[in-house]
This record gives sequence, structure tokens and C-alpha cells, in this order.
Amino acid sequence: MYVRQSTPQQVLENRESRERQYALAQFAQRLGWPAERVVIVDEDQGQSGKLADNRSGFQRLMTEVSLNHVGIVLGLELSRLSRSNTEWHHLIDVCGIFHTLLCDQDGVYDALDSNDRLLLGMKSAMSEYELITMHNRLLRGSRNKAGRGELFLAVPLGYLKTPAGEIIQEPDEQARGMIQLVFEKFEELRSAYAVFRYLVVNNLQLGFRRHRGGRIGELEWRPPSPSRILSILRHPIYAGAYAYGMHRAGTKNPATGRPEGGKWFLPPEELPVLLQDRLPAYISWDQYLANQEQLKQNRSLHETRGAPKRGEALLPGLVVCGKCGRHMTTRYKADKRPSYYCDEHWRSALDEPCGRISATTLDNLVAQEVLRALKPAAFELSLRAIENVEQERKRLHDQWNQTLEHARQDVARAERQYHGVEPENRLVARTLEARWEDALKKQRQAEEDYHRFLTRLPATLSGADRKRIQSLSNSVVALWHAPGTSALDRKQIVRCVVERVTVVADKATELNEVTIVWLGGGTTQHRVARPVGSYEQLKDFRRLTE
Ligand SMILES: [Zn+2]
Repeated sequence: MYVRQSTPQQVLENRESRERQYALAQFAQRLGWPAERVVIVDEDQGQSGKLADNRSGFQRLMTEVSLNHVGIVLGLELSRLSRSNTEWHHLIDVCGIFHTLLCDQDGVYDALDSNDRLLLGMKSAMSEYELITMHNRLLRGSRNKAGRGELFLAVPLGYLKTPAGEIIQEPDEQARGMIQLVFEKFEELRSAYAVFRYLVVNNLQLGFRRHRGGRIGELEWRPPSPSRILSILRHPIYAGAYAYGMHRAGTKNPATGRPEGGKWFLPPEELPVLLQDRLPAYISWDQYLANQEQLKQNRSLHETRGAPKRGEALLPGLVVCGKCGRHMTTRYKADKRPSYYCDEHWRSALDEPCGRISATTLDNLVAQEVLRALKPAAFELSLRAIENVEQERKRLHDQWNQTLEHARQDVARAERQYHGVEPENRLVARTLEARWEDALKKQRQAEEDYHRFLTRLPATLSGADRKRIQSLSNSVVALWHAPGTSALDRKQIVRCVVERVTVVADKATELNEVTIVWLGGGTTQHRVARPVGSYEQLKDFRRLTE
């Protein structure tokens, strides 16, 4: 006896059908099978009948039939067995070989009888057809609804669906603040992964609303993941737009028939449904577009700069070949001395490579120019730096205060509930007391964590801190060479003022033409001498030999 309902939802809600399916066991006994010979195969509850490979119950049924253990296969409707024509016919064939009968609510079938076989074949074709029409009808329905901007399968983080079906911004201030923080930090750090690191380092969590299991709608704090941050930055809802069909499905694997390769966010211009100004927004549409552009630039493609990485070279992603106009690749050799080289000749099968230049030579020139350009801003920088550090600290302390506030509220609520219960109701009182204790424990934990955080990062800057920031930022050169400044920091400083650096790496001379294109459009010309491998590569080689 085979029992299956397509989705876990149906298993939970469609009791009637489930009970009728199980009642078949008694029917089998009435037909004369002894109770111990009736086997209920119900492992496939909640699985779709589309494919058999994830339905262990159907596989078991097939095995039992082909071992000649089965007299009759019972199902309420035979379409429950399989909605795939191929699998269905396979089962009928096997039943025919081992003289196994099939039975549904309409009758008993013998797979060897030509009339029964015809009927079974038609039932199978109908059932497959039914599945496809059902699927198409559902899909068309949801597309129509999405076109009107009314279909919400899951509401993203930072939004809530009211019982009336309206989508509102997260009512909890702290949870809403975290979403805003993600956007603010992305503007500052310009990389999704950097935002993720910032949240983790500062022990900040995102507020999720439970949407399954018990306590649906309750707020839960969970640490972020890089992909979560990325999907917040990619989702148009945060700019107030309704979007449908945001992901490109992975390609189908012919072996398993399932899509693989993860989901990809489509760029806004390719979205099937995009309706602006539909929902409460966290950022403006322009900022959303700017963020998408930044995310695209962060990818290391040939036409983009790529996000700055941790290597020692200062200019990866910024150096452009003066001969062919392509971005030059950074190559780290075994001795760790990096160089920039143009690999265009590999792609276009040119005979002569455009050339390469040692990274140190070019980096020193650009660093020197950048420091010169930044000098006039030093005084303002020192003031702004202190202001920024203080703002940043205030923000972190605000987050902590909200966490503590939440913990206090939980304790107060648990306490009220405990006192509100009648003393005779001892069992309830005991549960509530445990919950109160638990809330108190959590509050103490949060307070201790906060104190630990305070010793690491006091709310205000000390006099010594201020002096150190001032003296460092008064001299950009000192800041540049300070031991706390990493290669990544230097790259970010360069990217604040330099758009790209074009270099003509000429083999016939040690002098290379360098053009720095500054952000805002200005350009400066430079000439840099690079170390060469042989005398032939010197500019004055001929004069030298003469
Ligand atoms: Zn080139």
C-alpha cells in the first residue's frame, strides 16, 4: 500500500486525504490479505511525484515487486505512485512479469490484460498531463500577481508582512538600524565582504523574523554571513522597488535533472518585474544603482578594477596597458616581488607581448605623487579623523545600549508573566519561572559582554588617543608609513584619489611613460626608470657601445 502527499503542507493540512489513504490497509484485509502481509510504504510523504530518484518509498516498492514479494499494489489514486510516464510504465512492466495486481479506488488492474494495460497507460498519461497543467496554471497565476506587484513569497530581512498582507519596514528599531548600518558601512568600506567583517569583528548581529516552526514572527538575533550581506545590497526592495524573478536559476545538470551552480542575481535592467516607489525604502534608487555599480567594479574582470586585496602591490586593478588599453594583471613571483604585466598577447595570439613593469618601481612613483596631492588636506584630515572615530564609537555603543534594552525588556516581561499567574497553577508557574531565570541569565551575559567591549573600546577618546590621531594625520607621510597601516589601507587611500595609471612598458628603453588619471579628471605625465635585465634594453645602448 503506497501513501504519498506532494508537499509537507498537504501532509499537515489535508488530513482527510491522508486518513483515506491509510484506511486502504483495512480494505486490503477485507479483500483477504492477512494483516501482517499488508505493508504500508509511506516514506515519500511530502515528496513530489515528478521524479523517483528522491523517493525512497517508490524505489522500495519497485524492489519488493521485482523480488516477487507483492501480490497487489494499492493506492487511492494510482497517480500518487508516479507522475512520470517512464517510471509508471516501468512499474507496470515489472508488475506484469511478477503477476502483481494494481488497485485504486476505481478498480483492480492486471498488467498482463490488454484492456487493463490500455487503461493504466491512459491514466498515467493523464496524470502527467495534469501535473504539467497544474504547474503552468500556478506559474501563470503567480506571474500575473507579481506583475501587479502583489506576490510576496518571502519578505526580506528588515521588512514585515502584516496579517492584512501589507509590507512594512521592520518595527524594531535596533533591527532596522542594523540594515541601515549595512548600507552606511558599504558606502564607507565599498566591499560587501568588508561590511561582513566589520559586523563580525564588532559582534553585531542581524534581526531575523522566524517564518516557520513555532513562535512565527518572533525576532531572533543571528550573526550575518557574507552572502546575506550581499543579498541585502543586491535586493531592490531596500530602495523601495518591488521586484520579481531576481535570480537566474542555475543550469540543469543532465545527470540529476536538477539545477546547479547556485543562484545569480540579475542586474536591475534584466528583471522581469521591477516597479519603483512601491514599498518603504532604506536607500534611494540612485544609491541602489551606485551600489550595484560598485559591486560590479569589485569583481576582478578585465573591464573592472576589482576590490582591493591584501597583496603587497599597491595598484592591482588600476594599471592599464598603454599599448592595448587592457587592465594589466598583477603577478607575484616566487621571490614575492610583484610585477604588472599585460597578458593581452595570450588572448589575441599576438607575437610580441606588450611588456611588464616591476610593481615596486611604479608603486613608489604613484605613492609619492599621491602623498604630494594629499598634503594640503592634512589639517582637515586630522580634524575629520577624530570626528569619525568618535562617531563610529557612538554608533557601536548605541547598538550595545539597544541590545541591553532588549534584554531588560525580556526580563521585565518574564517577571510580569510569572507574577500574573495564579499560585494554584503550579506547573505553569514553574515554566514561567524558568523562562524568567533564562531571561535574567541572558541579560547578565549581555551586560558582561558589554563591559568586556567597554574595556576594549571606551565610549570617548582619551587625551592620548586624540594626540596620536592628530600627530599621525597631520602628516600624511607618517600615516602612510605607520606600522598600523596595512597594504589594503594604502590601496584604499590610492583609490580615493587615483582612477587609473596608464603605463607604456617599452622593451627598448628603461624609461617608461606613466600617466596618472586622477579622480575628477585631471591627468599628470611622469617618466619612470625601471630596472632592466640587459644592456640592450637601455635607452642609450647604441651610444654606450660606441
Ligand atoms: Zn597590452
